[in-house]
Amino acid sequence: MIIVLFGPPGAGKGTQAEFLVKKYGIVQLSTGDMLRKAVSEGTELGKKAKAIMDAGQLVDDTTILGVIGERIKAPDCANGFILDGFPRTIPQAEGLDKLLQSANNNIHSVIELRVPDSLLIERIVKRANDAVKNGQAVRADDNAETMQKRLKIYHEQTAPVLPYYEKTGVLRVLDGTDSIDNISGQIAKILA
Ligand code: AMP
Repeated sequence: MIIVLFGPPGAGKGTQAEFLVKKYGIVQLSTGDMLRKAVSEGTELGKKAKAIMDAGQLVDDTTILGVIGERIKAPDCANGFILDGFPRTIPQAEGLDKLLQSANNNIHSVIELRVPDSLLIERIVKRANDAVKNGQAVRADDNAETMQKRLKIYHEQTAPVLPYYEKTGVLRVLDGTDSIDNISGQIAKILA
């Protein structure tokens, strides 16, 4: 089963991905996590991505499609996977379709977690403050100023992907301001 968790930064995609990993035993593929790992390991990909990520911009489509194309070939993806933070542009959505078609596979559901911008900024600032409190590293892009840029890019480049999935009938929209458990329950119903 291939599931796309869709929504702006701070919508709760990572939290719901954790729930799905436990419930269905399939892997979570977060392009943000993959890129942060590449940055921390100092790989070529990491060197290319760091400044772009810190500025809240998007890494180019060819690079991201290359990363995902390689990752989904791994044996742990054979039973399906949860995409978190990908696709983020129409070319990425088209590229994903091509990758899946060549493997005779398709997307089960695209689940959009909808949250107003004002609440997202609050959540991201809280995520940064909590990281400080817990002695964890704070993401360079988790601050109110960069968040404004990330939201602008979300509305300009990522939200236009939604009609693409609406057309194919796989899109489900959930209220991302609801409680974590309620949202998980609704996702479970969609996938049942
Ligand atoms: P995230 O953890 O999903 O919020 O991603 C953090 C940052 O990684 C984003 O702001 C982008 O700079 C980069 N990134 C993650 N996923 C993608 C993607 N699918 N396309 C382009 N850039 C991405």
